[in-house]
Amino acid sequence: MPRDRLSSPSAHHDHHGKVLFVGAGPGDPGLLTVRALECLRRADVVVYDTLVPAAVLDIAASTAERLAVPRDGQDGDGDPGQATGRLLSRLAAAGRTVVRLKGGDPAVFGRLSEEMGPVWDAGIPVEIIPGVTAAAAAAAAAGIPLTSRAAASSLTILTGHEAADKREGIDFRQLAALPGTLVIYMGVEQVERWSGGLLSAGKPADTPVTIVSHCSWPDQRIAVSTLARCAADFERHNWPSPAVVIVGEVAQPVDVASTLADRRPLAGRRVLNTRPPGQGDEFDALVRAAGGSSLRVPAIRIGAPESWQPLDEAIRQADTFDWIVFASANGVRGFMDRLRGAGLDGRALGTARLAAIGPATREALEHAGFACDLTPTLFRSEGMTAALAQSPKRSRFLLVRANRGRDVMRREFEAAGHVVREVAAYSSEPVELLDAATVAAIDQMPVDWITITSSLIAESAIRLFGPWISQWRVASLSPITSATLRQHGIEPTVEASAAVAESLVAAMADWEAAHTPPLA
Ligand code: SAH
Repeated sequence: MPRDRLSSPSAHHDHHGKVLFVGAGPGDPGLLTVRALECLRRADVVVYDTLVPAAVLDIAASTAERLAVPRDGQDGDGDPGQATGRLLSRLAAAGRTVVRLKGGDPAVFGRLSEEMGPVWDAGIPVEIIPGVTAAAAAAAAAGIPLTSRAAASSLTILTGHEAADKREGIDFRQLAALPGTLVIYMGVEQVERWSGGLLSAGKPADTPVTIVSHCSWPDQRIAVSTLARCAADFERHNWPSPAVVIVGEVAQPVDVASTLADRRPLAGRRVLNTRPPGQGDEFDALVRAAGGSSLRVPAIRIGAPESWQPLDEAIRQADTFDWIVFASANGVRGFMDRLRGAGLDGRALGTARLAAIGPATREALEHAGFACDLTPTLFRSEGMTAALAQSPKRSRFLLVRANRGRDVMRREFEAAGHVVREVAAYSSEPVELLDAATVAAIDQMPVDWITITSSLIAESAIRLFGPWISQWRVASLSPITSATLRQHGIEPTVEASAAVAESLVAAMADWEAAHTPPLA
């Protein structure tokens, strides 16, 4: 391999075109490398595997061309890896920066050499950016080491999907004799073949086996079995691909003898997150950190308000207000987008002071580069009114909010003698129908918790999920949301002590801890 043609990371060939083989990691954008982020952002074309999730692809510029290549190649003519390689060199020959985005690490079961061949041959510079391979991601998710001084001095990565016509199949005797860990990629479909092969080659029947399916995806699942039982276990539970299997002494946490390998508070719990797309990612991350998995089914949709005109006008006159009060993080985003879109920045607000209705809204303001002058300690509209009761009479208030919501603030400010202008910075609409794939996902794997973070979401979720809800545990974000739930006959199982994702997850974790018998 002509290694000297690997371009050095600092050399820029932007006008010449090049191909960057970039590891996308297992799926969660949080597991991309910083360098992968940079490459994605400056790509002219992204050629990606169908395994790479939308959240990662979204990082590329909206102007970048996106081309999917199916895992089994595209033209059915010769080696699929080489066909992709020819495509890459054609794209780069036109002077473009081509990112070849591959799941996990590009050098692990990624047909890297086949794809690189035609690119080398065309004399086009290549860079390889490593990624978190499925074995590493799965071990981390399951909380197990891949090697250990006591129990595993080697690590073998192998494919469970050996082509039937390969003359030299896997030698199970050699594998069974290795003093370490085996990680099997592409192995769920072939579980009987490899587990049977290892058993008959003398590997002990009780060797621990951990399977991690959809690692780092919202519906990640982890389970522990043994070499003898895993074929039956996997078949019974119908584990979805992609999944990796870790085989060896390390594949089971040392002091846990049962399949309850995970003692984190939400271990094995599935949480249905009803927040709209683009929000609630932090919440998903917290659920995963607590050992749970989350299923995102938005109950509302965020869109543009009916007209931008009132907001735009208010922004132009922003410096005439004494207070600008933001009723939600979405309101902050809508407001700031229009402000920037008009070519303005923070100076346009003059001496107006800024208030946020709660901690998440405050965070959105700070994220946009603004200090927040006031966040009431009570997390509801009434808190805001009380906090601002001292303002001099006839203060001018701008309320930035959704197209719908409660009118408490406006009424109370006006009752206190202030002048109030209300503008919608976004609209939120209930989702009317669940698609078939979502219904199947809910049917297939039971939901333990549903999170309800506003009154509108409460009403929409009750309509969408109907009788399901009464079988699920319900986590409510605030007293107002709980009141709406109760009006509809749903008693929340827990309520967050403050209206932030951390408190909501903590409330669920506390409930689980109080209701789970201690492990023997
Ligand atoms: N280059 C990739 C592997 C590609 S082969 C890497 O380094 O991870 C495809 C196999 O990788 C799948 O069959 C599965 O075994 C594994 N895999 C990839 N992504 C995965 C994920 N998110 N969770 C579990 N296994 C995954």
